[in-house]
Amino acid sequence: MAAAAAAVEREADRLTELDSPIGDADHGSNLLRGFRAVLPALDAEHPAAPGEVLQLAGRTLISTVGGASGPLYGTLLRRTGKALGDAAEVSDTELREALDAGVTAVAQLGGAAPGDKTMLDALVPGVAALSTSYRAAAEAAENGALATVPLQARKGRASYLGERSIGHQDPGATSSALLLRALADVAEPGEGAA
Ligand code: ADP
Ligand code: MG
Repeated sequence: MAAAAAAVEREADRLTELDSPIGDADHGSNLLRGFRAVLPALDAEHPAAPGEVLQLAGRTLISTVGGASGPLYGTLLRRTGKALGDAAEVSDTELREALDAGVTAVAQLGGAAPGDKTMLDALVPGVAALSTSYRAAAEAAENGALATVPLQARKGRASYLGERSIGHQDPGATSSALLLRALADVAEPGEGAA
């Protein structure tokens, strides 16, 4: 969560810029508000288990972020955390399966599927590639985000633009790739290019 918060601090301006041609120019500031609240919430409650950390982070995002991405990312983290339960330690396989459940919950909540030009275009290939490695997951998510450029948005605010949403990278797919890159940097430090 600290690595995710740092990545959002670093990239917020770029995320907001991506949200200006096909949105309302607030994606970076939305995530900044959310992730700036996450670390203080964890400090205040200091949950011990990884699953409890993710659930508290998810609740915090839901309560602090206005906009579509707050409930969606909040649901991703809460559902992933719930799948991990209160186990003190979590294996790579358990985390992968939990993230899979989290991504499924995002798809259910938002009614989107890959190809709709949303965060799922990064999350779905990213989490699928976790069975290879954390770095492969980050890379697959980054490629998924890039692949949103030629797509027409079918969900969220960008869908109101119809064909004019074509030719722009989706901000939510970009932030999802950023978050999976932050996970890879923490889970596989020093392996490959950062
Ligand atoms: P808002 O669109 O309310 O301003 P943000 O700008 O914070 O919220 O987030 C926009 C991002 O949310 C989009 O780029 C897209 O990736 C994601 N998004 C929007 N609607 C959905 C949905 N129904 N399912 C999945 N992701 C979505
Ligand atoms: Mg927006």
